[in-house]
Amino acid sequence: MSDRPLYSVKMRASRDGAHISGAERIVAGKAAPETAAALVRRAMAHPKGTPDSISLKVVETSGILHIPALPVSTEVAATPEDGLAVAESLLRKAGIARASEIVAMLKGSRPMRGAMLVDADSLVRLEPDHERGVRATCMDAAGAQGRLPPTAKNHYAEAIVLASKVAAAPGIVAEICISDDPDYVTGYVASPGIGYRRITRMKEPGDPHGGRIFICRGISSSPDETIRFLEETPVLVEGATPLSGVGDSCWRDSIDSELKTMRGRGLWRSTRVLGGLPGTVASLAGRNVAVLSSNGYLGLAEDARVRRAAADAAMQYGAGTAGARLTTGTFPIHAELEERLAEFFGAEAALSFATGYMANVGAISAIAGKGDLILSDELNHASIIDGCRLSGADVSVYRHCDMGDLRGKLSQAGGYRRRLVVSDGVFSMDGDLAPLPELIALCREYGAISYIDDAHAVGVVGHGGRGLAEHFGCDRADITIGTLSKSLGSEGGFVCASRRVIDYLVNRSRPFIFSTAPSPTAVAAAIAALQILEDEPWRVGKLRGNVEFFTASLARRGIPAGTDSAIVPLILGDEKIAAEASARLMERNFMIPAIRYPTVPMGAARLRVAVSAAHGRDMLAAAAEAIADVLAAMR
Ligand SMILES: *Cc1c(COP(=O)(O)O)cnc(C)c1O
Repeated sequence: MSDRPLYSVKMRASRDGAHISGAERIVAGKAAPETAAALVRRAMAHPKGTPDSISLKVVETSGILHIPALPVSTEVAATPEDGLAVAESLLRKAGIARASEIVAMLKGSRPMRGAMLVDADSLVRLEPDHERGVRATCMDAAGAQGRLPPTAKNHYAEAIVLASKVAAAPGIVAEICISDDPDYVTGYVASPGIGYRRITRMKEPGDPHGGRIFICRGISSSPDETIRFLEETPVLVEGATPLSGVGDSCWRDSIDSELKTMRGRGLWRSTRVLGGLPGTVASLAGRNVAVLSSNGYLGLAEDARVRRAAADAAMQYGAGTAGARLTTGTFPIHAELEERLAEFFGAEAALSFATGYMANVGAISAIAGKGDLILSDELNHASIIDGCRLSGADVSVYRHCDMGDLRGKLSQAGGYRRRLVVSDGVFSMDGDLAPLPELIALCREYGAISYIDDAHAVGVVGHGGRGLAEHFGCDRADITIGTLSKSLGSEGGFVCASRRVIDYLVNRSRPFIFSTAPSPTAVAAAIAALQILEDEPWRVGKLRGNVEFFTASLARRGIPAGTDSAIVPLILGDEKIAAEASARLMERNFMIPAIRYPTVPMGAARLRVAVSAAHGRDMLAAAAEAIADVLAAMR
């Protein structure tokens, strides 16, 4: 069969008479059978449910109109409220004065299969059947006619094709759309003048409601021609290229089903866009919230001296290093940072990494390998676990902070080249401390290497913020790693150890060798922060005072809470309860996250408060009160 004539293949799926999904293609005759089969497969797997009826229509088409695709651009919205505000301003830009009323019409609309056809100025609905609406059909992307049909929906390409046809219809001035697919939160505003503007978030994931309005002018008395064009004129849209990686593949369904399972279990997570400087108050979708979850324990990320050092370094050394440390990426400030870190932590030498995560992965996987044994605390940070996995060494997990268990495991671990005992210093989800003196003594007794991750201890634990060794007044572990990204307010990680170990890492640590050197801005900010920590050790004392004030405020309200660091966990157990408590606190403008599986074990979900030296006592007292209220109301 030749490429001509073309056929329109339309699919509509429903259950109990209610519409579930629909799609169409315009394809060459030889592709029609497979296209029909693919559309049926797609209907059967639709996230809104399995249909009890699928109708297929295959019709020869002629007189096809070719039109160009609207130009595409993306507007980032953090929340559905943001997204709707963006949509409103875009409609205004498209010349529609009553934009806010149109957005309200869309939000208030009942589910319908087609679109509303609304006059831009009178807001009168012009479609003859308000239940059915107007449907834009008979269209496809040009160039797809000989290709194999897609097995899954590509929202992006299909929406551009539809919007381009709609924008070309007589009298249409704009369109606004929110998808009714519960998994698809992106919507758009389109018009001939401003093009196709994707808006990244128009509703919450899982919300099955959507809607579509075609906005027109000057056709109130005779909308028939416009409706006929939308519903009947076959159109091929030129240049509607699909967004790569979106849909059109056999693996989309398996990803969707995992995401759906997570949502069902209260494990769904997404990023939140915060405005303002890092610190104790952030602006979130236009309101100010108190932040009680930042790792910036000393308020240094927002300190003007630290920011100035970063800005100056960018001007002096450049924005990036454009090379790995062993090639062209080592600048004078890298050497200075490492010397200062070694001095501050009382080590022979130090090595910096781009992040604390990379420091753990890079140091553990270099020190331990096949033929070695790593003994790892069961609550160690994910970056330690990943380092252990990558190393290829045998890994033995001992009970949390249980030195008896560690001794038992060490005493049975003969025949290994190296034995490495790895522990968080401050445990990041519980706030407790590793028993460093006992751990070091055991390592010496059994000839093992001791390795401590002081990420949450730097700037927090010990009189001068030098970590666990200072706190306990004992020797340092053989290897201490830390991060520049938490209390030091910058970004990066480091390893402190003997010169021998550091030389070994320079030659063996793959994240050090094969990744670009830390940026001058991050390095200079870390140096400045370290200087402040040295010059102003009272910050550490102020932090400790704030922690004590906060836990005492909770205790007064009957909530037992304790910590050896700045992390205060309030363990609630159930994942959904923790998520609900966090959401209620957010309603009261306190940002306190629910920590859930996989960060902590299943059934150990919690609220996790991080106290900062920058918090005012008023804010801490108000937070304790809000937590007590929310937990009491949920009991
Ligand atoms: C945060 C953290 C890290 C990772 O540090 P980044 O600089 O954020 O990559 C490593 N270990 C522990 C214990 C941490 O809490």
